[in-house]
Amino acid sequence: AKLKGKGRYQLFSDDIARLLAEQDAIEQALHTALGREEFELNFQPIFDANNLRVTAIEALLRCNHPQLKQAGPDKFIPVAESTGLIRQIDRWVIEHALSSLAQLQQRGFGGVLNINISANELHNEQFPSHISTELGKHNISPAAVELEITETTLIDADRQSVSVLRRLQDIGVNIALDDFGTGYIGFNQLNHYPVNTLKIDRSFVHAIGNESGQKRPMVDVVLELASIFDLDTVAEGVETEQQLLRLRKLGCNFLQGYYLARPMPLTELLKFLEQHGEC
Ligand code: C2E
Ligand code: CA
Ligand code: CA
Ligand code: CA
Repeated sequence: AKLKGKGRYQLFSDDIARLLAEQDAIEQALHTALGREEFELNFQPIFDANNLRVTAIEALLRCNHPQLKQAGPDKFIPVAESTGLIRQIDRWVIEHALSSLAQLQQRGFGGVLNINISANELHNEQFPSHISTELGKHNISPAAVELEITETTLIDADRQSVSVLRRLQDIGVNIALDDFGTGYIGFNQLNHYPVNTLKIDRSFVHAIGNESGQKRPMVDVVLELASIFDLDTVAEGVETEQQLLRLRKLGCNFLQGYYLARPMPLTELLKFLEQHGEC
């Protein structure tokens, strides 16, 4: 038993060592990529659930550095957050997202651009004024921008985060809670957050049609919560027609997912919008 325990501990510490080495490698790669501007944005359309018109577009970060390309943002963003590099990345993303939006507007796009930002920014008193400066620089109206913040990173409604969110809303940008339902923001706390939109995590969307014995799909509960607080709802990860039809019937406002459109580079997006008569 002693040996087994020791062996187990060895395995455990090997895993930790590997994880730390991987994070270290990602951190190095992030430094390199930032220095060489090896980032790029892709864009995924978001559709009105009823008429399937494109009402918004989400900017999603891509990296051409081989190691980061393989890891994907789900893996490298958390490393960027824990090392503080996220500030530089968020700045890069905001700058490039807004200049892309300016191009889209020139081509006639009248919708909203959704930009992901780290919850770290909510502890940065300068962030709202940074956003206002950037909007001014690109001559973009705040109402054309929605900032997405992941729900899990917002666990406690500390005063500073709430005040930064409120200042952002005062500027006129919208706020979306991303991956909603995966965190711990309950009924009570939702009340304290200045938010406009809930983005329902794709796990709820994928559960549609797989409810075992439940009378109501979970997504319906989330939609009801949103309607009580008068919030817009976006369903993420819509991959089938069945999901689309069900979500529409349940009253979800907006849909996003591979079934409707995948994330794509700006040039492709412009063609897509043109084909759909949105540009
Ligand atoms: P997210 O904000 O929840 O973004 C949605 C993710 O779902 C994207 O992954 C998108 O490509 C993917 N997706 C879209 N439709 C479908 C679908 O129908 N099925 C499935 N299975 N997936 C779908 P991506 O681009 O790999 O991004 C992963 C996460 O990384 C994002 O999740 C977001 O939390 C973070 N992230 C991405 N770009 C940025 C950024 O510019 N800044 C920050 N701070 N975080 C970002
Ligand atoms: Ca998002
Ligand atoms: Ca999400
Ligand atoms: Ca996510």
